[in-house]
Amino acid sequence: MLSVDQARAQLLNAARPVTETETLATTDTLGRILAESVVSAVNVPPLDNSAMDGYAVRLAEAQAEAILPVSQRIPAGTLPQPLAMGSAARIFTGAPVPEGADAIVIQEDTEAADGQVRILRAAKPAAHIRRAGEDIRAGQTVLVAGTRLGPAQLGVAASTGADRLTVYRRLKVAVFFTGDELVQPGQPLPPGRIYNSNRASLIALLTAMGCEVIDLGTVTDTLAATTTALEQAAREADVVMTTGGVSVGEEDHVKAAVSQLGRLDLWKVAMKPGKPLAYGRVGTADFIGLPGNPVSAYVVFCLFAQPFLLTRMGGRWQPPLNFNLPAGFERKKAGDRQEYLRARVEQGRAVLYPNQSSGALTSMAWAEGLVEVEAGHSIATGDPVRFIPMVM
Ligand code: AMP
Ligand code: MG
Repeated sequence: MLSVDQARAQLLNAARPVTETETLATTDTLGRILAESVVSAVNVPPLDNSAMDGYAVRLAEAQAEAILPVSQRIPAGTLPQPLAMGSAARIFTGAPVPEGADAIVIQEDTEAADGQVRILRAAKPAAHIRRAGEDIRAGQTVLVAGTRLGPAQLGVAASTGADRLTVYRRLKVAVFFTGDELVQPGQPLPPGRIYNSNRASLIALLTAMGCEVIDLGTVTDTLAATTTALEQAAREADVVMTTGGVSVGEEDHVKAAVSQLGRLDLWKVAMKPGKPLAYGRVGTADFIGLPGNPVSAYVVFCLFAQPFLLTRMGGRWQPPLNFNLPAGFERKKAGDRQEYLRARVEQGRAVLYPNQSSGALTSMAWAEGLVEVEAGHSIATGDPVRFIPMVM
């Protein structure tokens, strides 16, 4: 059996990043991977400007109780005159600081009347002035290639004036689902059958990552049908993903089909839920076979497929955010596999969903994250445990 880290390292090693790029409007790039770094041509902010509504003054002239004539009014978006000696300039948030001024006295520390302003509290040096280039200097690289573009990154690009960004093309991922017991939601449920839940979760996980999903639906549990679906998927997509059919049962045809058309590595990963993880290639496409059990499929996706796909998309995977929390539960010695328990944070403690079965998908919907328990460890209430938030 491989450890979780070993299996992920092998998988990341096999991920060949896409190279094709496209240039899009910045606002159309949410979730995409940046292919060309963004270098700012401008200072942000472009000029020294006021962080508050108030008065721009010379420090030496603005002691407490000083009364200064108001020599100009500077709304945001206008350009000021140099500050006349012995005067104050009315200034608003975001407006450029006039030449000669070295502090802003906030409105609340003044009294204005008859074109004059009384300073109630002496200004401090450089108070409430945002310096030119304080956020970004001209020439600075603000976003490096390989960055996944989220809302904040799009804002930063826009703040430098970038209206178009060069990103990697979207990754095409074909999915199909094996199991003759599966029924599509919307259809009546005959005895002995179950609804296909993996399809809904997996397509959503891929969509949330920014992949283009090709959905081939449920495939009959025969070698011929599986082979046909696999051939089509590998022709049309960069990556083929399936759930189910990779364990040892004789109804599991995915393994045989992948081996026949390409090559397959079947890894036993020392983790619970999960364990079987299939990786292979068919033609030019990668193949990832997730377990059939819905919780296993979900957790294996997050631990392995997500890092693989991110790398494949041109991004840089980093170990997930995690922190220690006191356990709000007790647990007997874990077996020989690392466990991923569906958990929530309540009053600063990690608490578990009562049903930790790999078939109980409600645990996943309830959970805010996973508690990782090393093989062979037992946990007493209050022990620190590693909590990994699920941020999909
Ligand atoms: P398998 O890996 O094919 O042996 O499937 C393991 C378990 O997961 C079985 O109980 C299947 O019925 C269940 N399962 C497989 N695929 C799905 C699916 N798409 N939706 C819900 N349950 C599934
Ligand atoms: Mg099956």
